[in-house]
Amino acid sequence: MSSTIQSVFRQFSRNGKLSQQNLSRFIRRCSTVNSEENSFKTMIKRLESKGLPIVHHHGYVCDLPVNHQFPMKKFHGVMHHLKVDNVISMRQVLEPERINIKNAQTVHTVEYTEKFFTGHTSREEQKVTGFDWSEGLVSRVRYETGGTLLAARAALERGMACSTGGGTHHAFPSHGSGYCLLNDLAITAAVLLKEGAVQKVLIVDLDVHQGDGTAYIFRNDERVFTFSMHCEKNFPTRKQKSDLDVPLEDRMQDREYLDHLQTHLPKILNDFHPDLVLYDAGVDPHVDDELGRLSLTDKGLFDRDYYVIDTVVSKGCPIATVIGGGYSRDLKILSARHTIVHRAATKPWKVSFKGWT
Ligand SMILES: [Zn+2]
Repeated sequence: MSSTIQSVFRQFSRNGKLSQQNLSRFIRRCSTVNSEENSFKTMIKRLESKGLPIVHHHGYVCDLPVNHQFPMKKFHGVMHHLKVDNVISMRQVLEPERINIKNAQTVHTVEYTEKFFTGHTSREEQKVTGFDWSEGLVSRVRYETGGTLLAARAALERGMACSTGGGTHHAFPSHGSGYCLLNDLAITAAVLLKEGAVQKVLIVDLDVHQGDGTAYIFRNDERVFTFSMHCEKNFPTRKQKSDLDVPLEDRMQDREYLDHLQTHLPKILNDFHPDLVLYDAGVDPHVDDELGRLSLTDKGLFDRDYYVIDTVVSKGCPIATVIGGGYSRDLKILSARHTIVHRAATKPWKVSFKGWT
Protein backbone atom coordinates (compact mmCIF):
# COMPACT_ATOMS: atom_id res chain seq x y z
CA MET A 1 0.00 0.00 0.00
CA SER A 2 1.45 3.41 -0.84
CA SER A 3 1.89 5.76 2.11
CA THR A 4 -0.86 8.06 0.77
CA ILE A 5 -3.36 5.23 0.57
CA GLN A 6 -2.20 3.93 3.93
CA SER A 7 -3.12 7.23 5.54
CA VAL A 8 -6.51 7.20 3.79
CA PHE A 9 -7.02 3.65 5.04
CA ARG A 10 -6.24 4.69 8.61
CA GLN A 11 -8.77 7.52 8.29
CA PHE A 12 -11.63 5.17 7.41
CA SER A 13 -10.72 1.95 9.26
CA ARG A 14 -11.10 0.78 12.82
CA ASN A 15 -8.71 -1.87 14.19
CA GLY A 16 -7.43 -2.45 10.68
CA LYS A 17 -10.89 -3.24 9.25
CA LEU A 18 -13.41 -1.32 7.16
CA SER A 19 -17.17 -1.41 7.71
CA GLN A 20 -19.33 -1.80 4.58
CA GLN A 21 -20.29 1.87 4.74
CA ASN A 22 -16.71 3.04 5.20
CA LEU A 23 -15.49 0.73 2.43
CA SER A 24 -17.56 2.73 -0.10
CA ARG A 25 -16.26 6.03 1.29
CA PHE A 26 -12.73 4.69 1.25
CA ILE A 27 -13.02 3.57 -2.38
CA ARG A 28 -14.35 6.98 -3.45
CA ARG A 29 -11.55 8.78 -1.62
CA CYS A 30 -8.88 6.43 -3.00
CA SER A 31 -10.05 6.86 -6.57
CA THR A 32 -8.70 10.40 -6.38
CA VAL A 33 -5.25 9.13 -5.35
CA ASN A 34 -2.75 8.45 -8.09
CA SER A 35 -1.12 5.26 -6.79
CA GLU A 36 1.92 3.40 -8.04
CA GLU A 37 1.81 0.17 -10.12
CA ASN A 38 -1.98 0.36 -10.37
CA SER A 39 -1.96 -0.85 -6.77
CA PHE A 40 -5.32 0.78 -6.02
CA LYS A 41 -7.23 -1.90 -7.92
CA THR A 42 -5.16 -4.65 -6.31
CA MET A 43 -5.58 -3.16 -2.86
CA ILE A 44 -9.37 -3.00 -3.12
CA LYS A 45 -9.35 -6.68 -4.11
CA ARG A 46 -7.17 -7.34 -1.05
CA LEU A 47 -9.68 -5.68 1.23
CA GLU A 48 -12.58 -7.59 -0.25
CA SER A 49 -10.91 -11.01 -0.31
CA LYS A 50 -11.54 -13.58 2.41
CA GLY A 51 -9.37 -16.18 4.11
CA LEU A 52 -5.64 -16.83 3.88
CA PRO A 53 -4.40 -14.65 0.99
CA ILE A 54 -3.12 -16.73 -1.96
CA VAL A 55 -1.24 -14.72 -4.58
CA HIS A 56 -1.35 -16.07 -8.12
CA HIS A 57 -1.30 -14.84 -11.69
CA HIS A 58 -1.83 -16.76 -14.93
CA GLY A 59 1.16 -14.76 -16.21
CA TYR A 60 3.59 -16.61 -13.87
CA VAL A 61 4.00 -18.96 -16.85
CA CYS A 62 5.55 -18.24 -20.27
CA ASP A 63 6.28 -20.38 -23.30
CA LEU A 64 9.58 -22.28 -23.40
CA PRO A 65 11.12 -24.45 -26.12
CA VAL A 66 9.89 -28.07 -26.12
CA ASN A 67 11.99 -30.28 -23.77
CA HIS A 68 13.32 -27.30 -21.80
CA GLN A 69 14.40 -28.59 -18.38
CA PHE A 70 12.65 -25.91 -16.30
CA PRO A 71 9.16 -27.12 -15.24
CA MET A 72 7.43 -23.85 -16.18
CA LYS A 73 3.88 -25.21 -16.17
CA LYS A 74 4.13 -26.10 -12.48
CA PHE A 75 2.85 -22.65 -11.48
CA HIS A 76 -0.50 -23.37 -13.13
CA GLY A 77 -0.37 -26.89 -11.67
CA VAL A 78 -0.03 -25.52 -8.14
CA MET A 79 -3.21 -23.45 -8.51
CA HIS A 80 -5.01 -26.40 -10.11
CA HIS A 81 -4.21 -28.70 -7.18
CA LEU A 82 -5.12 -26.09 -4.58
CA LYS A 83 -8.53 -25.68 -6.23
CA VAL A 84 -9.45 -29.30 -6.99
CA ASP A 85 -8.36 -30.47 -3.53
CA ASN A 86 -10.42 -27.66 -1.92
CA VAL A 87 -7.40 -26.31 -0.08
CA ILE A 88 -8.44 -22.79 -1.12
CA SER A 89 -11.40 -20.98 -2.68
CA MET A 90 -11.18 -18.36 -5.41
CA ARG A 91 -12.22 -15.71 -2.86
CA GLN A 92 -8.75 -16.03 -1.36
CA VAL A 93 -6.88 -15.37 -4.59
CA LEU A 94 -5.15 -12.04 -5.19
CA GLU A 95 -3.60 -11.09 -8.53
CA PRO A 96 -0.32 -9.16 -8.53
CA GLU A 97 0.78 -6.40 -10.88
CA ARG A 98 4.07 -6.76 -12.74
CA ILE A 99 7.02 -5.28 -10.84
CA ASN A 100 8.12 -1.95 -12.30
CA ILE A 101 11.72 -1.22 -13.25
CA LYS A 102 12.15 1.32 -10.46
CA ASN A 103 11.37 -1.30 -7.82
CA ALA A 104 13.55 -3.87 -9.59
CA GLN A 105 16.38 -1.34 -9.31
CA THR A 106 16.20 -1.34 -5.51
CA VAL A 107 18.59 -4.33 -5.70
CA HIS A 108 19.57 -4.70 -9.38
CA THR A 109 21.77 -2.32 -11.34
CA VAL A 110 20.26 0.16 -13.77
CA GLU A 111 22.36 -1.36 -16.57
CA TYR A 112 21.21 -4.93 -15.93
CA THR A 113 17.53 -4.12 -15.49
CA GLU A 114 17.45 -1.98 -18.65
CA LYS A 115 19.16 -4.75 -20.64
CA PHE A 116 16.88 -7.46 -19.24
CA PHE A 117 13.64 -5.53 -19.65
CA THR A 118 14.46 -4.62 -23.27
CA GLY A 119 16.17 -7.78 -24.51
CA HIS A 120 19.77 -6.58 -24.67
CA THR A 121 21.44 -9.18 -22.44
CA SER A 122 24.25 -11.05 -24.20
CA ARG A 123 24.20 -14.73 -25.21
CA GLU A 124 26.66 -15.52 -22.36
CA GLU A 125 24.53 -13.65 -19.83
CA GLN A 126 21.46 -15.59 -20.95
CA LYS A 127 23.27 -18.91 -20.85
CA VAL A 128 24.01 -18.77 -17.09
CA THR A 129 20.33 -18.07 -16.38
CA GLY A 130 19.19 -21.20 -18.23
CA PHE A 131 16.73 -19.22 -20.38
CA ASP A 132 16.90 -17.56 -23.79
CA TRP A 133 15.54 -14.03 -23.54
CA SER A 134 11.96 -13.40 -24.70
CA GLU A 135 9.30 -10.79 -24.00
CA GLY A 136 7.23 -13.54 -22.41
CA LEU A 137 10.07 -14.37 -20.04
CA VAL A 138 10.36 -10.75 -18.88
CA SER A 139 6.62 -10.55 -18.33
CA ARG A 140 6.59 -13.82 -16.36
CA VAL A 141 9.49 -12.73 -14.14
CA ARG A 142 7.85 -9.35 -13.49
CA TYR A 143 4.54 -10.98 -12.50
CA GLU A 144 6.30 -13.46 -10.23
CA THR A 145 8.33 -10.74 -8.50
CA GLY A 146 5.21 -8.56 -8.19
CA GLY A 147 3.55 -11.63 -6.65
CA THR A 148 6.13 -11.93 -3.90
CA LEU A 149 5.84 -8.21 -3.16
CA LEU A 150 2.05 -8.45 -3.03
CA ALA A 151 2.22 -11.52 -0.76
CA ALA A 152 4.46 -9.56 1.62
CA ARG A 153 2.11 -6.57 1.58
CA ALA A 154 -0.87 -8.84 2.24
CA ALA A 155 1.05 -10.54 5.07
CA LEU A 156 1.79 -7.17 6.67
CA GLU A 157 -1.91 -6.32 6.55
CA ARG A 158 -3.31 -9.72 7.51
CA GLY A 159 -0.56 -11.77 9.15
CA MET A 160 0.10 -14.40 6.48
CA ALA A 161 0.04 -14.83 2.72
CA CYS A 162 1.29 -17.43 0.23
CA SER A 163 2.29 -16.96 -3.39
CA THR A 164 2.09 -19.77 -5.93
CA GLY A 165 5.47 -18.74 -7.37
CA GLY A 166 8.63 -16.94 -6.28
CA GLY A 167 11.96 -17.80 -4.69
CA THR A 168 14.38 -16.66 -7.40
CA HIS A 169 17.27 -16.43 -4.94
CA HIS A 170 20.22 -16.97 -7.34
CA ALA A 171 19.80 -13.58 -9.09
CA PHE A 172 22.62 -11.09 -8.32
CA PRO A 173 22.53 -7.27 -8.68
CA SER A 174 24.08 -7.24 -12.15
CA HIS A 175 23.26 -10.67 -13.57
CA GLY A 176 20.86 -13.58 -13.47
CA SER A 177 21.86 -17.16 -12.60
CA GLY A 178 20.39 -20.65 -12.20
CA TYR A 179 16.85 -20.00 -13.59
CA CYS A 180 16.67 -16.70 -11.65
CA LEU A 181 16.48 -13.35 -13.47
CA LEU A 182 15.27 -10.90 -10.80
CA ASN A 183 15.68 -11.66 -7.09
CA ASP A 184 12.06 -11.44 -5.90
CA LEU A 185 12.88 -11.98 -2.21
CA ALA A 186 15.52 -9.26 -2.19
CA ILE A 187 13.41 -6.78 -4.18
CA THR A 188 10.47 -7.34 -1.83
CA ALA A 189 12.59 -6.74 1.26
CA ALA A 190 14.31 -3.69 -0.28
CA VAL A 191 11.07 -2.06 -1.48
CA LEU A 192 9.33 -2.48 1.89
CA LEU A 193 12.39 -1.17 3.75
CA LYS A 194 12.59 1.82 1.41
CA GLU A 195 8.90 2.59 1.92
CA GLY A 196 9.33 2.38 5.70
CA ALA A 197 6.71 -0.39 5.89
CA VAL A 198 9.25 -2.54 7.83
CA GLN A 199 12.50 -1.93 9.68
CA LYS A 200 13.86 -5.51 9.68
CA VAL A 201 13.26 -8.50 7.43
CA LEU A 202 14.26 -12.13 7.97
CA ILE A 203 14.64 -14.29 4.87
CA VAL A 204 14.32 -18.00 5.70
CA ASP A 205 15.58 -19.91 2.68
CA LEU A 206 15.00 -23.67 2.89
CA ASP A 207 15.37 -24.37 -0.83
CA VAL A 208 17.96 -27.13 -1.23
CA HIS A 209 20.29 -24.67 -3.02
CA GLN A 210 22.00 -21.85 -1.15
CA GLY A 211 20.31 -18.43 -1.50
CA ASP A 212 23.57 -17.00 -2.84
CA GLY A 213 22.17 -13.96 -4.68
CA THR A 214 20.13 -12.88 -1.65
CA ALA A 215 23.09 -13.39 0.71
CA TYR A 216 25.33 -11.28 -1.55
CA ILE A 217 22.79 -8.48 -1.97
CA PHE A 218 22.33 -8.02 1.78
CA ARG A 219 25.90 -8.86 2.86
CA ASN A 220 26.39 -5.39 4.36
CA ASP A 221 22.79 -4.60 5.32
CA GLU A 222 21.96 -5.17 8.97
CA ARG A 223 18.26 -4.62 8.35
CA VAL A 224 18.00 -7.97 6.55
CA PHE A 225 18.98 -11.32 8.10
CA THR A 226 19.60 -14.07 5.55
CA PHE A 227 19.25 -17.66 6.81
CA SER A 228 19.96 -20.47 4.35
CA MET A 229 19.80 -24.22 5.05
CA HIS A 230 21.00 -26.06 1.96
CA CYS A 231 22.77 -29.13 0.65
CA GLU A 232 26.48 -28.38 0.91
CA LYS A 233 27.52 -30.23 -2.24
CA ASN A 234 24.78 -28.80 -4.43
CA PHE A 235 24.64 -25.75 -6.76
CA PRO A 236 26.05 -23.10 -6.50
CA THR A 237 29.56 -24.47 -6.22
CA ARG A 238 30.82 -21.07 -5.09
CA LYS A 239 28.72 -20.19 -2.02
CA GLN A 240 28.20 -16.69 -0.66
CA LYS A 241 28.11 -15.84 3.05
CA SER A 242 24.59 -15.56 4.50
CA ASP A 243 24.08 -14.19 8.03
CA LEU A 244 23.59 -17.84 8.93
CA ASP A 245 24.40 -20.75 6.62
CA VAL A 246 23.59 -24.32 7.65
CA PRO A 247 25.21 -26.65 5.08
CA LEU A 248 23.71 -30.15 5.10
CA GLU A 249 25.17 -33.49 4.09
CA ASP A 250 23.82 -35.50 1.15
CA ARG A 251 20.80 -37.76 1.77
CA MET A 252 19.79 -36.12 5.05
CA GLN A 253 16.39 -37.36 6.27
CA ASP A 254 13.36 -35.74 7.92
CA ARG A 255 14.28 -35.99 11.60
CA GLU A 256 17.83 -34.73 11.33
CA TYR A 257 16.77 -31.92 8.99
CA LEU A 258 14.05 -30.75 11.36
CA ASP A 259 16.48 -30.91 14.29
CA HIS A 260 18.75 -28.41 12.51
CA LEU A 261 15.82 -26.11 11.79
CA GLN A 262 14.50 -26.27 15.34
CA THR A 263 17.97 -25.48 16.68
CA HIS A 264 18.33 -22.27 14.68
CA LEU A 265 14.99 -20.66 13.80
CA PRO A 266 13.71 -19.78 17.31
CA LYS A 267 17.08 -18.27 18.22
CA ILE A 268 17.17 -16.10 15.09
CA LEU A 269 13.61 -14.87 15.75
CA ASN A 270 14.43 -14.08 19.39
CA ASP A 271 17.69 -12.29 18.61
CA PHE A 272 16.73 -10.42 15.42
CA HIS A 273 13.04 -9.54 16.04
CA PRO A 274 12.01 -9.17 12.38
CA ASP A 275 8.94 -7.17 11.31
CA LEU A 276 8.41 -9.61 8.45
CA VAL A 277 9.59 -13.09 7.44
CA LEU A 278 9.93 -14.07 3.78
CA TYR A 279 9.96 -17.87 3.56
CA ASP A 280 11.34 -19.77 0.56
CA ALA A 281 9.71 -23.20 0.88
CA GLY A 282 11.55 -24.91 -1.98
CA VAL A 283 10.56 -28.57 -2.32
CA ASP A 284 13.87 -29.64 -3.88
CA PRO A 285 15.09 -31.21 -0.58
CA HIS A 286 12.54 -33.98 -1.41
CA VAL A 287 13.96 -37.51 -1.81
CA ASP A 288 12.55 -37.78 -5.36
CA ASP A 289 13.72 -34.37 -6.56
CA GLU A 290 15.92 -34.61 -9.63
CA LEU A 291 18.40 -31.95 -8.45
CA GLY A 292 18.09 -32.21 -4.68
CA ARG A 293 20.50 -34.72 -3.07
CA LEU A 294 18.59 -34.67 0.26
CA SER A 295 16.01 -37.28 1.36
CA LEU A 296 12.99 -35.53 2.83
CA THR A 297 9.55 -37.12 2.47
CA ASP A 298 6.23 -35.36 1.79
CA LYS A 299 5.54 -35.51 5.52
CA GLY A 300 9.00 -34.10 6.26
CA LEU A 301 8.32 -31.12 4.00
CA PHE A 302 4.89 -30.60 5.58
CA ASP A 303 6.36 -30.73 9.11
CA ARG A 304 9.10 -28.30 8.05
CA ASP A 305 6.66 -25.78 6.54
CA TYR A 306 4.20 -26.06 9.41
CA TYR A 307 7.00 -25.58 11.92
CA VAL A 308 8.35 -22.43 10.20
CA ILE A 309 4.95 -20.81 9.72
CA ASP A 310 3.59 -21.71 13.16
CA THR A 311 6.78 -20.60 14.95
CA VAL A 312 6.87 -17.24 13.15
CA VAL A 313 3.15 -16.54 13.55
CA SER A 314 3.26 -17.53 17.24
CA LYS A 315 5.78 -14.72 17.73
CA GLY A 316 3.25 -12.28 16.25
CA CYS A 317 5.39 -11.76 13.13
CA PRO A 318 3.85 -11.64 9.62
CA ILE A 319 5.07 -14.25 7.13
CA ALA A 320 4.86 -14.44 3.33
CA THR A 321 5.75 -17.69 1.58
CA VAL A 322 7.08 -18.46 -1.92
CA ILE A 323 7.31 -21.91 -3.50
CA GLY A 324 11.02 -21.94 -4.46
CA GLY A 325 12.65 -24.74 -6.42
CA GLY A 326 11.38 -28.20 -7.25
CA TYR A 327 12.40 -30.43 -10.16
CA SER A 328 10.66 -33.47 -11.63
CA ARG A 329 9.63 -34.58 -15.09
CA ASP A 330 6.27 -35.55 -13.56
CA LEU A 331 4.54 -32.17 -13.45
CA LYS A 332 1.50 -33.51 -11.65
CA ILE A 333 3.50 -34.86 -8.72
CA LEU A 334 5.75 -31.80 -8.63
CA SER A 335 2.85 -29.31 -8.65
CA ALA A 336 1.10 -31.21 -5.86
CA ARG A 337 4.35 -31.25 -3.87
CA HIS A 338 4.57 -27.46 -4.16
CA THR A 339 1.13 -27.13 -2.51
CA ILE A 340 2.46 -28.58 0.75
CA VAL A 341 3.33 -25.09 2.00
CA HIS A 342 -0.19 -23.77 1.30
CA ARG A 343 -1.69 -26.78 3.09
CA ALA A 344 0.69 -26.30 6.03
CA ALA A 345 -0.25 -22.59 6.24
CA THR A 346 -3.97 -23.30 6.54
CA LYS A 347 -3.95 -24.53 10.15
CA PRO A 348 -1.94 -21.69 11.75
CA TRP A 349 -4.11 -19.29 9.74
CA LYS A 350 -7.32 -20.71 11.20
CA VAL A 351 -5.91 -20.70 14.74
CA SER A 352 -4.34 -17.23 14.63
CA PHE A 353 -6.53 -15.20 12.29
CA LYS A 354 -10.10 -16.31 13.00
CA GLY A 355 -11.44 -12.79 12.30
CA TRP A 356 -10.38 -13.02 8.67
CA THR A 357 -12.16 -16.26 7.70
ZN1 LIG B 1 16.59 -24.91 -5.51
